[in-house]
Amino acid sequence: MGGRAMDKILIIDDSPVQTGFLSSILQEDYEITACHTAEEGLKEAMEGNYSLILLDVVMPGMDGFQLLQELKAVEVTRYVPVILITSLSAVQYEERGLLLGAVDYVTKPFKPVIIKARVNAHIQLYRYQMQFKEQAMIDGLTGVANRRRYEEGSRARWREAVRFGLPFSICMFDIDKFKTYNDTFGHQAGDKAIAAVAKTVSSFFHRSTDLFARYGGEEFVAVFMGNVAETAYEFMKTARQAVEELHIPQAESVGPWLTISVGGVTVLPRQGDNYDTCLKIADTMLYDAKRFGRNMVVWSTPTVEQWRER
Ligand code: GH3
Ligand code: MG
Ligand code: MG
Repeated sequence: MGGRAMDKILIIDDSPVQTGFLSSILQEDYEITACHTAEEGLKEAMEGNYSLILLDVVMPGMDGFQLLQELKAVEVTRYVPVILITSLSAVQYEERGLLLGAVDYVTKPFKPVIIKARVNAHIQLYRYQMQFKEQAMIDGLTGVANRRRYEEGSRARWREAVRFGLPFSICMFDIDKFKTYNDTFGHQAGDKAIAAVAKTVSSFFHRSTDLFARYGGEEFVAVFMGNVAETAYEFMKTARQAVEELHIPQAESVGPWLTISVGGVTVLPRQGDNYDTCLKIADTMLYDAKRFGRNMVVWSTPTVEQWRER
């Protein structure tokens, strides 16, 4: 198996006897957590990265149906499969649960092998679904995040920076005179060069809050937080240099090496500030980097209009 981490299952049931019984059935193959109220279960579901939830319908306070609605309303728990467990055998309950988004419905008393089989099947499906979702967020040529992930991820990070009062940087990169490169060496060589540049620049971003993505064509975007403007600027100068030092030969009329131009901005975003305004500044800085001779980093901050250097 090669040490694949066990999938996590959350059991939410007010009866400790019931959670104990379900745990004993499943704990050999899964990592189990049990909660005894819906409120506790909701909190745990949002924090715990679960692959499946087993949910009792009848509980004091918030019941299983209500909790199911809550789970489906939140992005982080929306896709986690929920199997409802209850002694209610009336058909209308089953229908209601499925309409609310449960993937399956098990009526007590149940046979352990049946629970096991259903849980296995739904976890398998969930894995495929997540793999598919993951794949749909990756750029095929370069293996870095694609435009879609960027659109989702950048705004979420921006909100986080606002919440935590962190400086936020947006950076646009564009390969210089790439049309000439393609015309000289061919489109296939061009593809290889794009992938090499992406690999080099992406290696600069390791934090979980960093996001580096292919914006389109030979253009990339990075968002990162927690660095003051000076640091961000120096950081990107190093990235620019690393690309030049790949020593990918450029066409003679442009050469010697393939290079990138970089435009960026660092701000301290506050409630009500606009992400797109900030992105537009980064784009303007990139335009200036091209205008002032390419193979250059141009950076803007709220206090300094522009830094410009190789
Ligand atoms: P500048 O320095 O001003 O950015 O000049 P440029 O030639 O790089 O800019 P322009 O936007 O005119 O040309 C971009 C070129 O990048 C044209 C396009 O064919 C090429 N390109 C975009 N995406 C890909 C790709 O996926 N593979 C290859 N091989 N080329 C691509
Ligand atoms: Mg270009
Ligand atoms: Mg371009």
